[in-house]
Amino acid sequence: MSQYFCPYSVSVINMYSPELNKLYCQLAKTCSVQMEVNSPPPLGAMLRATAVYKKPEHVAEVVRRCPHHERTPDNNDGLTPPGHLLRVEGNPHALYQEDDNTHRHSVLVPYEHPQVGLESTTILYNYMCNSSCMGGMNRRPILTIITLETQDGQLLGRRSFEVRVCACPGRDRKTEESNFRKQQEAKNTSKTHATNKRCLKDTTSRPEGSKKAKTSCSSDEEIYTLQVRGRERYEFLKKINDSLELSDVVPPAEAEKYRQKHFSKSSKKEREGAAPEPKRGKKLLVKEEKSNSD
Ligand SMILES: [Zn+2]
Repeated sequence: MSQYFCPYSVSVINMYSPELNKLYCQLAKTCSVQMEVNSPPPLGAMLRATAVYKKPEHVAEVVRRCPHHERTPDNNDGLTPPGHLLRVEGNPHALYQEDDNTHRHSVLVPYEHPQVGLESTTILYNYMCNSSCMGGMNRRPILTIITLETQDGQLLGRRSFEVRVCACPGRDRKTEESNFRKQQEAKNTSKTHATNKRCLKDTTSRPEGSKKAKTSCSSDEEIYTLQVRGRERYEFLKKINDSLELSDVVPPAEAEKYRQKHFSKSSKKEREGAAPEPKRGKKLLVKEEKSNSD
């Protein structure tokens, strides 16, 4: 199956969000989906598109058009079954099927090799209802499943993406993407809180296990907050933290170079002074203490 890996990419005109793996489109408008295979499938291979409900509580139900759109003459050409949500545009070989057991609708087209110079073949799909259609999808999210199959129905590859059919695909995509990002951010921060809490609990309840708890849940990327009493102490600890942050950024080779430079300078000074260093240090300290007590 992986040999005929069947990825797809959806052209940007259709408002596809790679982040959400979701296609946003308008009712009965063209959605071009690019099919790409790793190696050419056997002769007679077909590409099948099926719409299914995304949520487990709806997945058993067949996705079909709403009664209104199924009956109105608009968007019904008399050739394609009026109850099918998914259509293929501009392909006389398109075959509409209803599964005998599951009653699911699908549309098949023969797999065609990409034209010279291209890596993928494009198939044009239409969605014939809005996601909000009453008595149809009724605001329930759907997936489109694309399968690559041999002539006798053996599965060669499979891909899926979510679809929303609506009046303003661009606007909805933007809204949902920003909501998704916010959710991810919230998830990440709550995760950090949770692990921090666990760390605390672990170390307090069994001190002997603190080492283990520390290694199991502390990560270099985790951010901790430390409350410090007093400005002076804060500045002092901040300095330490700043230098640690800096040492993370400075490459070891650079740090070593700096250290050597610094060392050679200070040793030069020592040689120049030639006086017994430690004593001078001590003296200074005493002097300082004196002046402080005055
Ligand atoms: Zn409808």
